[in-house]
Amino acid sequence: MTFFADFNVHSKYSRGTHPDMEIPTLARWAKYKGVGLLGTGDFTHPQWLVALKKFLKPAGRGIFDFDGVRFLLTAEVVCSFTQGGRARKINHLLLAPHFQAVDRIIDALEREDDLATDAVPTIRLTAEELVSTVRKISPEAMVVPAHAWGPHHSLFSETFGFDRLEEAYGAEAVHVKALETGLSADPSMARRWPALDGKALLSNSDAHHPSRIGREANLFDAPMDYREIVEAVGANDRVRFPATIEAYSQEDRYYAGGCRACRRPAADGESACPSCGKTFVRGVLDRVNALADRTPEEGRRRAERHHRLIPLADLVADARGVQPDADSAEKEYLKLVTQVGPELDILLLWEESRLREKLPARLVDAVLAVRREDVAVEPGYDGQPGRTKALLPPLPADPQLKLI
Ligand SMILES: [Zn+2]
Ligand SMILES: [Zn+2]
Repeated sequence: MTFFADFNVHSKYSRGTHPDMEIPTLARWAKYKGVGLLGTGDFTHPQWLVALKKFLKPAGRGIFDFDGVRFLLTAEVVCSFTQGGRARKINHLLLAPHFQAVDRIIDALEREDDLATDAVPTIRLTAEELVSTVRKISPEAMVVPAHAWGPHHSLFSETFGFDRLEEAYGAEAVHVKALETGLSADPSMARRWPALDGKALLSNSDAHHPSRIGREANLFDAPMDYREIVEAVGANDRVRFPATIEAYSQEDRYYAGGCRACRRPAADGESACPSCGKTFVRGVLDRVNALADRTPEEGRRRAERHHRLIPLADLVADARGVQPDADSAEKEYLKLVTQVGPELDILLLWEESRLREKLPARLVDAVLAVRREDVAVEPGYDGQPGRTKALLPPLPADPQLKLI
């Protein structure tokens, strides 16, 4: 069977998350989005674990069910340690095959650290120790460097990370089978590293709000079976794991270098702001260019199949000529995903004829423009979020239309 999976989401017990991040809400939004398999997130948190054990019904083979949406046990932890004389902080996504493995992982982690304060707990293991600890507890569990190119707590972060995967994981590097690209990177960036050629690339939303579920996701053509999924990822099997869904990484607020105060994204070769003279705040792209061995073209050529999408809610707002948080746009979006079809199906899977039959003409044009990557992109820099917009002919200058 074909389904979209999003493994990295958070509960209401994580910092900065929406109070509605409860299992029934997650399941409802997974349906709106067309995500058939959702990570539970946060299984290390005591209260969330109680909720998971209460709400989720075992569906067999390491998969759980709530109201027709399937779940798989996941969590995110931060390894905080010193190595090579520097403080390191690297986030990891954990996938576990059953609650017994979860209980044993928790036992091992809470020996030293408090797991109750934050649902993304900070643990005092090195990245290498985390992989070996989890692997010894459960060979079927999976440890994945989370948002590996992210600007903050990540494997390749300039401040807290490493230049090479082997430096972080040592002898355990071979057991790191996949990396999560995260919102700030995509497969064409990741494939600029020859050292990562054997590793799979996962894409997950890291959602802190239910509406963000499925913002990035993985497409599988496999039985919904924990072992099959982990094997397909571990082998980077392009038959069972044929594609990922990507946000435009340029939307990340630290994608490019620049100076926010002067509204100046860095031009090629510039290291300081020509207006105020300050050194540009470097972006993810600078880091990628500094570390990668291959050219951007070669990265694009080697990248696995992926689909870069703009959220349907943004396309709806744009087609109406309003802001995405306008009531009219939110209403239309909810009507579409509850009465017409799930978001990812509309954005990616439906034939044009079906779109034309079910959706307003201008929205169909926007969906098709995104599929062709006819998208205007303004990269984010120095904390200024980037912007993307489907390229459409201007709205007719009818004052009546502007009022809708
Ligand atoms: Zn996260
Ligand atoms: Zn400046």
